[in-house]
Formats: sequence, structure tokens, C-alpha cells
Amino acid sequence: MGCSVEEVTAAVRVAAEKVIEHRDELVELDRVIGDGDHGENLHRGFTAVVAKLDGGGFDSPAAVLKVTATTLISTVGGAAGPLYGTAFLRAATALGDVSEVDGRMAATALEAALEGVVARGKAAPGDKTMVDALTPAVAAARSTVDAGIADVLMAAADAAAAGAAATVPLVARKGRASYLGERSAGHLDPGARSTAVLLRALADAASR
Ligand code: ADP
Ligand code: MG
Ligand code: MG
Repeated sequence: MGCSVEEVTAAVRVAAEKVIEHRDELVELDRVIGDGDHGENLHRGFTAVVAKLDGGGFDSPAAVLKVTATTLISTVGGAAGPLYGTAFLRAATALGDVSEVDGRMAATALEAALEGVVARGKAAPGDKTMVDALTPAVAAARSTVDAGIADVLMAAADAAAAGAAATVPLVARKGRASYLGERSAGHLDPGARSTAVLLRALADAASR
């Protein structure tokens, strides 16, 4: 069973609301190893996304992801805006004009999102970024493609949570946290955490 354009819209809305809810936590994480604006950046961006979704008029799941992408790119400053924007844009392109997103397509879209983030930010796994949450999420999604979309996204969300947690001991090699060098170790990466929050929300929405 796949997700219709209405269900994809609802899922992105739930994800946006979750990120908005996690604003203070993400601010605090970024305050420790960055400049403290990650929660603020995403709060601004996803608030604008919800407003865009309220306008409606989307004729495909890809259209929903595309408006999410362009809204994030135009409203979120810093590293995360263009990175998440690229992720949603690549996912939209991967979906093409399908009217329902099944598990296999969700995995393909997630993989395209990761490729976009890597193409743009040039981070490798282990650099203590959102790539450390997305990479295991893609692997988990790929290994569950024959399941329904809810199971695929649940596997991805579980893997992203584990990947985010595993950023704690890492030394940052990309983004502002890398300015801290060894002192970045011992702290959770804010972008990996927001990726885990987003994927958990998408999974929860898909399993309703
Ligand atoms: P900024 O660092 O510009 O203030 P944010 O605070 O919104 O932007 O986002 C910081 C997060 O962005 C980091 O925690 C990290 O996960 C992610 N990030 C930073 N640079 C990169 C990169 N080159 N590739 C992937 N992710 C990155
Ligand atoms: Mg920041
Ligand atoms: Mg900043």
C-alpha cells in the first residue's frame, strides 16, 4: 500500500511540526558545538513549509516535496537550509510523477536525498553531520524495500536514530563544529539529530 498525495502532504506536515517542537533541543545542541541557530533555522523554515502546505493545490507527492525544498532553501540560512532543501528536491525528482509512494519508491527517494546532501556538502560518513544519520537510514530502507512504506520508513528512522547517537564520540570534520576540532567530540551533532526527528515523524505518519 502506498501513500497518496494527501498522505504525503500530511506526513510532511507532521514532520514539520515535530521539528518545530524540537526547536529548543536543536538550539541547545548547536549552541554546544556550533553557533546555536539550528533549531531556530529549522523552526523558521518548517513554519514556512506548513504555511505553504496550507495553501494546498499539489497534484503529486513530488510536488509536495518540491515546495518543501524551495521553501526551505529560501527561508533557512546556514548550512542546513540548502542541505535539507537539496535533500527534498532530489527526493522529489526521484519520485517523478507517481501518484502513490510505496516502500520501494520511498527508499529510492531517501537514497536520492542522501546523494544530494553529499553532492552539496561533501561530507563522508564519520564526519559528524546529518550524513551520519542519513547513510544508515538509506541502508536500512534499502534492505526493507519489499515491505510497505510504513515499515521502510520505520527501519530508516530506527537506523537514523542510532546513526545520530553514534555521532557523539566523533570529531567533526565538516561545518561549524569542525572549528572546534577535538573539542567537538562528546556531543551529539544537531543536524544528525534533526534528520532522526524528521524521519521518525515521517515513519509515524506513514504507519497511521
Ligand atoms: P550553520 O552551521 O550554518 O549554523 P545549522 O546550525 O542550521 O547551520 O546546521 C548545522 C548542521 O548542518 C550540522 O549539525 C551538520 O549536521 C550539518 N552540516 C554542516 N555542514 C555540513 C556538510 N558539509 N554536509 C552535511 N551536513 C552538514
Ligand atoms: Mg548553526
Ligand atoms: Mg548559523
